[in-house]
Amino acid sequence: MTFELAPSGRSKCRGCGQAIAKGELRFGEKLPNPFAEGEMTHWFHPACAAYKRPEALIEALPQAAIEVPGREALERAARGAGAHKRLPRIDGGERAPSGQARCRQCHETIEKGAWRIRLVFYEEGTFNPSGFIHLGCREAYFETSADILDHVLHFSRGLAADEREAFGRALRGG
Ligand SMILES: [Zn+2]
Ligand SMILES: [Zn+2]
Repeated sequence: MTFELAPSGRSKCRGCGQAIAKGELRFGEKLPNPFAEGEMTHWFHPACAAYKRPEALIEALPQAAIEVPGREALERAARGAGAHKRLPRIDGGERAPSGQARCRQCHETIEKGAWRIRLVFYEEGTFNPSGFIHLGCREAYFETSADILDHVLHFSRGLAADEREAFGRALRGG
């Protein structure tokens, strides 16, 4: 595992799918290469790794060979996400574009236009889309009443500012 400045803008973050800018700090996790011998490195924005690969990030922080800006905040985010085994599955929030998906927690359909939380399951280095839960089912599903607003919004790039606010109100107001 390693922290380094991205030598180009070609690497993509496994956590959010966005490019990592040249010169930006990136976190690399070495995993066995499923296609060939040896290892390959999976790159992340440090904050994306804190939320989606919390144990790996916490393990790597003390060994970082270069300065990691916002290190305490990263560690706090990783400890929060790592405290409950399902929290790293959070992949953002959105309004259901149709009324077809069922909630993984209560198994009822999620009404069109209702807020839902996207989930991904991590398997062998890959985050696979794994359905949704109602906002109101989050405490039962994640088995915690921890505040997940920053965590969900971190992976909700598609939401405009007013939608982020509306999401926050829905989350906090119940
Ligand atoms: Zn990212
Ligand atoms: Zn539900």
